[in-house]
Amino acid sequence: MTKKRILSGMRPTGRLHIGHLVGALENWVALQDTYENYHLIADYHALTTNPDSRGIEEHSLDMLVDWLAAGIDPAKSPVFRQSQIKEHTELHLLFSMLITSARLERNPTVKDQVRDLHIENISYGHLGYPVLQAADILLYKGEVVPVGEDQVPHVEITREIARRFNTQYGRVFPEPEAKLTKFARLPGLDGSMKMSKSAGNTILLSDSPEEIAKRVKTAVTDPEKKRRGDPGRPEICLIFTYHQKFNAAETPSIDADCRTGALGCVDCKLRVAERIAAHLAPIRLRRAHFEAHPEEVKQVLHAGEAKAKLVATETMREVHASMGLG
Ligand code: ATP
Ligand code: MG
Repeated sequence: MTKKRILSGMRPTGRLHIGHLVGALENWVALQDTYENYHLIADYHALTTNPDSRGIEEHSLDMLVDWLAAGIDPAKSPVFRQSQIKEHTELHLLFSMLITSARLERNPTVKDQVRDLHIENISYGHLGYPVLQAADILLYKGEVVPVGEDQVPHVEITREIARRFNTQYGRVFPEPEAKLTKFARLPGLDGSMKMSKSAGNTILLSDSPEEIAKRVKTAVTDPEKKRRGDPGRPEICLIFTYHQKFNAAETPSIDADCRTGALGCVDCKLRVAERIAAHLAPIRLRRAHFEAHPEEVKQVLHAGEAKAKLVATETMREVHASMGLG
């Protein structure tokens, strides 16, 4: 049986955090034997919220280091930059005729970005973020898209565009499905709904154990639990969510001891910081290797781009044939 194809990517807008890891990256690594994975560095998408392109290549390579450190095996999962495969821009243009601007204006993910980043007037390119993403996914005929929860509306738009194309010109594309993890929206340290670079409420994959402890100390907890002895409510505490992910075995006792007040927030935070640091230790170790071998990282990228180019060329040949574009 042929393996189903996965296409998923991330924007090179800064170092990755544990939200990226538990929301998407861990799934990519876990699925790379059972699926045929392709992973895209969405460097054009990075420009949608900030057109300043300085350092974009370094950021792309640095994000690739995070991916490799997290366990992406480039022999199984080709990795490539969107900007290096010109077919993305062509398919994006063709797809842009198949969706209305009203549909794009209803997209809740872009609405959230506009609010969080205080954008007054959205650019044409930013509004078209999901159209470019549809091109990213469908150029490789991705069937499964492992992403965090904020990306689900974009996969839905991809499905609509695929249907529209297939009806208009003949069947070329699959209708891909999003695949979520149990922690598809990890909350940020400040208590906001989503850990996010732009909000500065993150723990980075590259943080040292000391940095992690320092960051976790700043986290917001149950405001009614002011000191040890006060009963707390784990269900509203983001530190408890972190325990559920990184310290699953101890969560029943932590739940009970928080509720009685026996466990104070300071100790509870120290314990989770240790568990997060232990979880990230092998990633940090591999990161050090790839940081010391930049040529190896570039080589991985160029090999991935050569593989991606072959698939993209073949898909565009089918697109041209079905549209009668010669
Ligand atoms: P940030 O939200 O930190 O600014 P981003 O939106 O620029 O990151 P993307 O490239 O859009 O980064 O996201 C990469 C992937 O990580 C997406 O699948 C996204 O859903 C997922 N992701 C990002 N933050 C979280 C989070 N806090 N919890 C779960 N998944 C997340
Ligand atoms: Mg995002």
